[in-house]
Amino acid sequence: MVIEYAGTVIRAVLTDKREKYYDGKGIGCYMFRIDDFDVVDATMQGNAARFINHSCEPNCYSRVINVDGRKHIVIFALRKIYRGEELTYDYKFPIEDDENKLRCNCRARRCRRYLN
Ligand SMILES: [Zn+2]
Repeated sequence: MVIEYAGTVIRAVLTDKREKYYDGKGIGCYMFRIDDFDVVDATMQGNAARFINHSCEPNCYSRVINVDGRKHIVIFALRKIYRGEELTYDYKFPIEDDENKLRCNCRARRCRRYLN
């Protein structure tokens, strides 16, 4: 285990409203979708995990674990990680149409070119 993606668990239906609010205030938005129903919002109450970037060839992976009936997102190491190495995991965003594509800048040899 490397770190929990800490934040407030909110219902997925609230994400658009919150994103607009954060955008309006000029606050960078950090959210991690747990499943169809719940999202962890790390924007106001989070930790360093929210700064971990995506990579198509990552050294970590994320898992949803249940602790006493509550969902937590935890980042685990995929292999031995050396001092000074950047932590990354695969965001696994759903595939989207061409106009909604987000370009990937991970620079991995086998980069998929897009995050979604
Ligand atoms: Zn990539």
